Amino acid sequence: MTMTKLLYLEDMTLLETSAVVEEVVEEDGRTVVILDQTIFYPQGGGQPYDKGIIKNDSATFQVDEVRWADGIVKHIGSFQSGLFKKGDAIICIVEKERRELHSRIHSAGHVADMAVNALGLGWIPGKGYHYPDGPYIEYEGTISEDEKEKTKGDIEKKANEIIQEGAETTLRFMEKSKMHEVCNFVPDYLPEGKPMRVVMYGDFGVPCGGTHVSKLSDIKSMTIRKIKQRGEMLRVAYDVER
Ligand SMILES: [Zn+2]
Repeated sequence: MTMTKLLYLEDMTLLETSAVVEEVVEEDGRTVVILDQTIFYPQGGGQPYDKGIIKNDSATFQVDEVRWADGIVKHIGSFQSGLFKKGDAIICIVEKERRELHSRIHSAGHVADMAVNALGLGWIPGKGYHYPDGPYIEYEGTISEDEKEKTKGDIEKKANEIIQEGAETTLRFMEKSKMHEVCNFVPDYLPEGKPMRVVMYGDFGVPCGGTHVSKLSDIKSMTIRKIKQRGEMLRVAYDVER
């Protein structure tokens, strides 16, 4: 099977597109639809999957979950009516509200990091958790108990200034060796010699495959909920205006 073309990598704003059915299979008692290309974001990179509908004139498939495995995107769900067969032309429709919330939460995590960077705190970025139930970003770093409250306020103030400035996000594709020119932080685990996507928040580059807002003012506003020291790691919990 050919790898699924990931349309969201080149255009994060597409919420509806056409595609062709490659295969419909049953896996662990659930129906999986595989397409030649997709706008559905599969779970990964700290961001939850999209939901939505795949349909044509004769069938409607409800997408409840989306996963990526070995280059293939699996749209998991159930047929509300009819059935697809290989070669069918279909339309993908991503659930807008869910995607927009995930993009705002994800982008807010990057904005909090821009604020941490602008404040010169010297923390080393780690993983992010951009789920609606309690998003946070993590760093290698330390903070004393009496600095916490002020730093929390400083990050929140700076982050909201960045949101209000409303820089547009643009996409660039480059190899890891070039990323240092536009990115403040390039994770070691990225492979060499392969063009990868960098999302530019104004002139602040982020190597990232997730979905992001088109302009930072779309985040509206954000809060820093808590800074917590866990061993050598700092967890910065945040949220967006709901
Ligand atoms: Zn990201």
